Amino acid sequence: MILEQFDLSGKVAIVTGSSTGLGAGMALGLAEAGADIVGVYNHDAPDNATQIEGLGRRFLGIQADLSTTGPVAGILTKAVEAFGQVDILVNNAGIIRREKALDFSEENWDDVMNVNLKSLFFLSQAAARQFVKQGSGGKIINIASMLSFQGGILVPSYTASKSGVLGLTRLLACEWAPHGINVNAIAPGYMATRNTQPIQDDPVRNEQILARLPAGRWGKPEDMKGVVVFLASDASAYMQGHTIAVDGGWLAR
Ligand code: NAD
Repeated sequence: MILEQFDLSGKVAIVTGSSTGLGAGMALGLAEAGADIVGVYNHDAPDNATQIEGLGRRFLGIQADLSTTGPVAGILTKAVEAFGQVDILVNNAGIIRREKALDFSEENWDDVMNVNLKSLFFLSQAAARQFVKQGSGGKIINIASMLSFQGGILVPSYTASKSGVLGLTRLLACEWAPHGINVNAIAPGYMATRNTQPIQDDPVRNEQILARLPAGRWGKPEDMKGVVVFLASDASAYMQGHTIAVDGGWLAR
């Protein structure tokens, strides 16, 4: 029956950036659908652990700085040691730097590309190697952006990284489909989190965004739950390399 295909009971999901914003919302959604959660966090302590364990799921927090690929192997090792397997990876950790393209620094370029694209690739590779070893397939869900489709302003490395995420999602989907691995992405629109705090606080930009948004409101972390559970579940078995917008109609406008 179709609803049973959405059930994630017995699955183990790694979620990066799981302590805040969209990552916290998705970790909770996956746990509500039955998955145990490996939450990778940087500076923000995993205060959603209690909520996830309250649902009867297991939670393992791993502190790791994904600005380098150094922690990648350890994340997989610790997850497998704790829970015996990994079935789902959500590459959500991401940063943004705002500066005019004419002034943009090399540091702002490298910092963003390292977290948003380089670590995302190598963590996907490590997870896919584990999936192949397990022989049971797996799910990789990358967090893209409206700036996977549009140019934006003042955020050149962010746009480059998120456009890269869309392309890489397609490539990995093609290479790993024969192993039973589904690689897809979610492109959130304007979501009210720390990432967008400066534009929420700017009365002019805030009003412009709300006026253009068919849904008439900013998105919330819980708006990510349904689509992440779908992409993590058997219900999306025939979806490969697609980037789904969860954007209140922003791109449709
Ligand atoms: P956020 O700042 O709350 O979340 C970012 C997460 O990434 C944090 O948990 C942070 O700890 C983690 N992170 C950042 N640098 C890290 C590092 N070096 N090592 C490990 N973890 C690191 O903001 P958010 O809006 O929840 O962002 C989550 C994802 O969604 C990001 O990839 C972001 O680009 C993407 N996104 C957000 C929006 C939006 O409107 N908020 C829109 C499109 C895409």
